[in-house]
Amino acid sequence: MVLQSSYKRVIVLALDGVGRFFMEIPTPTIDAFFASGASSLTAKAVVPTDSAQNWGSVLHGVLPDKHGLKNGEVEAGVPYDEDSPYPSIYKLLANSFKDIKMASYVAWESINTGIIELSVKADLYAPLTHENRFWRWWLRFKHHWLKNSVYDYAVVSRLVDYIRNPENKSVKLLFVHLTDVDEHGHGHGYGSQKYLNQIKVMDSHVATILEAIDEVGWKDDSLVIMTTDHGGIGRSHGGDSDQEVNVFLAVRGAGIEPSSKIESKVTNMDCAALILEALGKKTPGWFDAKLPAEFSSKSVNGD
Ligand SMILES: [Zn+2]
Ligand SMILES: [Zn+2]
Repeated sequence: MVLQSSYKRVIVLALDGVGRFFMEIPTPTIDAFFASGASSLTAKAVVPTDSAQNWGSVLHGVLPDKHGLKNGEVEAGVPYDEDSPYPSIYKLLANSFKDIKMASYVAWESINTGIIELSVKADLYAPLTHENRFWRWWLRFKHHWLKNSVYDYAVVSRLVDYIRNPENKSVKLLFVHLTDVDEHGHGHGYGSQKYLNQIKVMDSHVATILEAIDEVGWKDDSLVIMTTDHGGIGRSHGGDSDQEVNVFLAVRGAGIEPSSKIESKVTNMDCAALILEALGKKTPGWFDAKLPAEFSSKSVNGD
């Protein structure tokens, strides 16, 4: 299975706080996605199993002690150090391809304000930074008082508009982050019925996104990656228990054998290497992220 280095774009479906809990309930879209490409159900998160640390590793290709990202700081609005020796893949790509079009549509605005460098030019969206005051109030009310987060609805509907707009056809990297499953984990417990029900809702959100991708004809020239940052135990995460560390990684795209397995040891961080390779850029030597052995051209027929 060789990863083509000629994909027009890479789309990352970053599903917060799912762990491997989707295996406990019917998730037709995720199942169909797995069947359409290669997947790992033995992937691990990086530790500590927090969002900033893990999305930081996914987007910077290095372990948390190197990128140094922490939830409290990114949530307080601290921007990523422009002089860091570990820039994000957004910055690497911006420096490699002139006028590259990239986008980040996230339910958690800290990804756009604290994990991706502010100097990066990209089409950014997050509900709490881009919606009007009434919507923001409603989203916060649902989240804090009703413990029934609906940030993902806003992200998915804006994202579908973005995908359908012909002006965005040339986007090379599109990072999509959904958060309501994680919020339901914090509000009701990871593995609880309400949390599992929210995974079903998320599955239908993923269906909406994939339908839009297929509808505009992006299916054949895009690599689509699906992963999560961590699971959870009780009402939190951050530790190294199986429920927190066990995650998944799935990839769909031209040249990737349907229903194939990624058997090698992988972490969600390895997405960073996958993304760069799929866009024809070599993985930097200082990366901790590695291209999964299954996708390395050296491991297949030596070509
Ligand atoms: Zn998270
Ligand atoms: Zn969380």
